[in-house]
Amino acid sequence: MGKGNKEYSTDGITVIWNAEKCIHAGICVKTLPNVYDPKSKPWISADNASKDELVNQIKQCPSGALSYKFDQ
Ligand code: SF4
Repeated sequence: MGKGNKEYSTDGITVIWNAEKCIHAGICVKTLPNVYDPKSKPWISADNASKDELVNQIKQCPSGALSYKFDQ
């Protein structure tokens, strides 16, 4: 796990967020507001979307702060 990475797991997938890379463009929040809520703690609730929705959204993150891995 790299420096600044935080992991948010749900069924079969883990969302990884790197606070240092995030430019706070807010695209994740606009695309999946039920998952990404800066006012909540933790701010990512990965179980509020399907795996496909998460992956599609993560690919749109402009800074590369978001990534994912599938559970073994
Ligand atoms: S889309 Fe990526 S860069 Fe933008 S706020 Fe979300 S995690 Fe940060």
